[in-house]
Amino acid sequence: MYRKQFQDKEISALGYGGLRFPMDKDNPSRIDREASQKLIDAAIASGINFFDTAYTYQAGDSERFLGEALSKYPRDSYYLSTKFYADAGVTIEEAFETQLERCGVDYFDFYLFHSLDENFINYFMDPEKDCLGYLIKQKKAGRIKHIGFSSHAGPDTLEKFVNWYDGFDMAIIQLNYLDWDLLNAKRQYEILTEHNIPIWVMEPLKGGRLSELNEEARAILKEAAPERSVSSWGMRYLMGLPNVQVVMSGMSSLEQLEDNLKTFDHFDPLSEKELEVLKKAAAAFRKDLGVPCSSCRYCCPTCPMELNIPVLIKGYNEWNMSKALWKVAELITEKTPDNCIGCGVCLHHCPQKIQIPEVMSKFADIIKENDIDFTKI
Ligand code: SF4
Ligand code: SF4
Repeated sequence: MYRKQFQDKEISALGYGGLRFPMDKDNPSRIDREASQKLIDAAIASGINFFDTAYTYQAGDSERFLGEALSKYPRDSYYLSTKFYADAGVTIEEAFETQLERCGVDYFDFYLFHSLDENFINYFMDPEKDCLGYLIKQKKAGRIKHIGFSSHAGPDTLEKFVNWYDGFDMAIIQLNYLDWDLLNAKRQYEILTEHNIPIWVMEPLKGGRLSELNEEARAILKEAAPERSVSSWGMRYLMGLPNVQVVMSGMSSLEQLEDNLKTFDHFDPLSEKELEVLKKAAAAFRKDLGVPCSSCRYCCPTCPMELNIPVLIKGYNEWNMSKALWKVAELITEKTPDNCIGCGVCLHHCPQKIQIPEVMSKFADIIKENDIDFTKI
């Protein structure tokens, strides 16, 4: 695992994102402690020393689990990062104290405003709430080492935020070879670089979609380098961006972890020739991209109908891509999309700005028109 210098720290180029730990089969709201501990132990043994979580990840269990899992390691042997979500229903003061307790630590190496966007910017900048003032106070008291933010904002909002405060130590943005153009991540990268703010990357593989791609794109990459995994192309693309400090991956299996460890063993960005190959593969995949859900599940806890939204979107994409009923049926094991009441609550939480009720309605129409009865498949 190669590391990069950040101020006085040497941080692993691959960071562990705490959003996708495997869940307990008997208790779907609890992280599977045994399987996830194995992942953390293997990550640390291989040199990963950066772990990221958030107040809301896996309904708070991600912080609790990470606290437990890391407690067997010396506190100064890893860097822990967490975040405050404006819509979590608690003040930043309450969240911060709870988070320290959940994680069983007395300081965070990195503390971030979570998910800056056009909705939340006013909350974070509200002088009455003075969230930033609170964080600066905690930093002075040694309870936070670095202040940053994660962002799903467009370039204008991002620029406004970094102009408002010039002391951010880092920022997390969604960056990958598709979103470079698709979500204008290029401009976000430029703004942060102009402000000397190092970038931590989230969704480097677009919620796993860039590890799957489609048949045509996979064939292009496999022909160019049969021994390399499809995911490694996305990771090596990011290595080539000099202002990327850490690439975070929410790894949920040892297989994913091992593949990433192999990729990040040493600095190995894509060559010019390889970049051309990747461009070709990306163009082939864009035809089948469908609804760009990253499976972050931010929308799920607030849905009054308890729909498994990302899985339904996956089913919708699968239908549009393959029309393979059995593949869709494998996904639609719970509530079908016609249960959506169109309330729009989920829209407020989706960082990808997906028109979720519209997708649910279209998918419900497809099921109806094709007379699909999932209970009989
Ligand atoms: S619009 Fe549909 S999917 Fe979204 S929160 Fe309401 S019921 Fe759930
Ligand atoms: S619909 Fe949006 S919020 Fe929900 S899982 Fe997908 S990307 Fe995340």
